[in-house]
Amino acid sequence: MDPQERLKQCGLAATPNRLCVLRALDGASRPQTPQELLAVLAGLGARMNRVTLYRILELLVERGVAARHNAGERAFRYCLGRGAHGHSHFHCTRCGATQCLEPRLLEPGLSRLLSGLPMQVELAGITLGGICEGCQHS
Ligand SMILES: [Zn+2]
Ligand SMILES: [Zn+2]
Repeated sequence: MDPQERLKQCGLAATPNRLCVLRALDGASRPQTPQELLAVLAGLGARMNRVTLYRILELLVERGVAARHNAGERAFRYCLGRGAHGHSHFHCTRCGATQCLEPRLLEPGLSRLLSGLPMQVELAGITLGGICEGCQHS
């Protein structure tokens, strides 16, 4: 989805900084720490201080545009929220890399689980841990 459209859909004004953060998240193949995002943003020509970035990330998480998760590292990682209830992650215990999993891999089972719960679930994510493909072959 177009970043501008995405912001409009959740009632956020499409400010240049927010658009840049969305583009940086969109271009990433794995969840990013704020530190990594700052580097990507600098590459996009957007100079942003850490406080501004944190504020935008919090807002995006609050509105369900981005997902935040912690894989046992010091920093949170952020990625674009995909799937009806967010999505799940795989964390490699050997190299420390975190990958987003395709929502369709887990959604069928997840929907079955959610439909059996009396709560109104707005966010569901599973973090799998183990050895990533790269590490298995090294
Ligand atoms: Zn690995
Ligand atoms: Zn993710």
